Amino acid sequence: MRVGSLGSGSNGNGTIVQAGATTLLVDLGFTLKETERRLRRLSLDPSQIAAVFVTHEHADHVHGVAPFARKYDVPVYLSHGTLDACAFGLMPSVNIVSGHDACQVGAFRIEPVTVPHDAREPLQYVLSNEAFRVGILTDLGHITPHVAERYADCDALMLECNHDVGMLTRGPYPYTLKQRVGGLMGHLNNEQAAFLLSKVDRSRLRHLVISHISEQNNLPDIARRVVSGALGDWAGSLLIAEQEAGLGWIDLRSEVGADARTGSAAEDQASQAAGLI
Ligand SMILES: [Zn+2]
Ligand SMILES: [Zn+2]
Repeated sequence: MRVGSLGSGSNGNGTIVQAGATTLLVDLGFTLKETERRLRRLSLDPSQIAAVFVTHEHADHVHGVAPFARKYDVPVYLSHGTLDACAFGLMPSVNIVSGHDACQVGAFRIEPVTVPHDAREPLQYVLSNEAFRVGILTDLGHITPHVAERYADCDALMLECNHDVGMLTRGPYPYTLKQRVGGLMGHLNNEQAAFLLSKVDRSRLRHLVISHISEQNNLPDIARRVVSGALGDWAGSLLIAEQEAGLGWIDLRSEVGADARTGSAAEDQASQAAGLI
């Protein structure tokens, strides 16, 4: 299994997870042209995307969903509330998911997880096959016991570190927006992300990806320092999914400390043949 990011942040999100012949996209907040360009960067063709799972209706997560689904005939999975809140128009295939039931697409089992965020019916996702478990967790205002329970035992975790509380307080956002972002239904700050890491079983965790960083209210170095404080002597790879550059492939077969950006098609074919991904 491998994971990559088309980009992460308030200007657009898109996470790619691939196992065997199945490639899934979680959220698509970029224009069609930009999506195609970012997929090419990961050596992917749009026709390889088996489905798009949507977390919630905010534009940075859904902007490109409908045009992409129509052009490439890709099924979309989302909650009832998210569908109601989106003006998608005609779609080739819409599948409703809920926080109560897991579903299967190709090689993946997908567990939707209900999160506290100021959207109609927001979900985040944990994706797994028989070998690996990947958690994607952004756009939530606080860590609930339910979230802490569902995100245990991940091999890779893409975790929101949206803002530094001090930078948000002193920063340029209007007061109401500061209240929203920092509120219980807003976004995770660095300390809240660190709190989750201190709560969950991390014995399998090998790759942590700091995600959805605010360009105005956070700095990668601050986020990295705060979450590192919760990780103790953890020896996995700590990476950042950037707004423009996204994140190159993280190969879950790689040894800890190996270059996470070097997965190649040839390696994958060899591994697929060996049943490793
Ligand atoms: Zn977002
Ligand atoms: Zn959001």
